Amino acid sequence: MDDIPLISRISDLYKRMSHAAMRAGRSPEEITLIAVSKTASIERIKEAIDAGQRVFGENRVQEAQGKIAECGMQNAESRIEWHLIGHLQKNKAKYAVRLFDVIHSLDSRELAEELSRQAEKIGKVQDLLIEVKLSHEETKHGVSEEELVPLIETIGDLTSLRVRGLMTMPPYFEDPDHARPYFRRLRELRDKINEMRIANCYLPDLSIGMSNDFEVAIEEGSTMVRVGTAIFGERR
Ligand SMILES: *Cc1c(COP(=O)(O)O)cnc(C)c1O
Repeated sequence: MDDIPLISRISDLYKRMSHAAMRAGRSPEEITLIAVSKTASIERIKEAIDAGQRVFGENRVQEAQGKIAECGMQNAESRIEWHLIGHLQKNKAKYAVRLFDVIHSLDSRELAEELSRQAEKIGKVQDLLIEVKLSHEETKHGVSEEELVPLIETIGDLTSLRVRGLMTMPPYFEDPDHARPYFRRLRELRDKINEMRIANCYLPDLSIGMSNDFEVAIEEGSTMVRVGTAIFGERR
């Protein structure tokens, strides 16, 4: 796998994404490929940018900081977007709002307040997704189903935040079809919340699907797939 050029892997991914979208009667344009570049070197990220990739995901603020400085927030042809997909500690909120276009891991009112405060300071409205924990693994972050609506209701007054959707990470399965119920459940929760017509709350996005299961996630409504290994190879 390591001798396949990045550009071929990325174009192969876009083909597989399109096929999955068409199988589900969806338009491929509804789905953003986030290239998860955690542990990938700056050279490899630049190679992906040269191949046309514009959206990247990182799971640690500190690691992302150096990469974003090196690879530029801007590119001559079009802007590079950076997404934080990993857990965020409150004391890093200040850096996160300066670095990331979208933060996928909002999981508490306290973190929301701090993000809002920091975003307001730099005159930004921060886009966010709420991470929902649908399995019972201790290692996973996110709010439970029961905590989700109360969280959305209590952060409605934070005007420097814009919650755009939900994110989840199911347990790892060899067979990607076993992740389907988790993806479906997240979509149902999102649809239910949209039907509640909570003030200032409309959630178009679902951040679901990784290298092993992004096609199933797209069939279940994903608008953002987070793919690392299938682009950059196995992480060491
Ligand atoms: C690492 C990571 C991914 C990418 O996983 P791959 O299996 O390498 O595609 C996606 N989402 C999150 C939250 C991650 O930490």
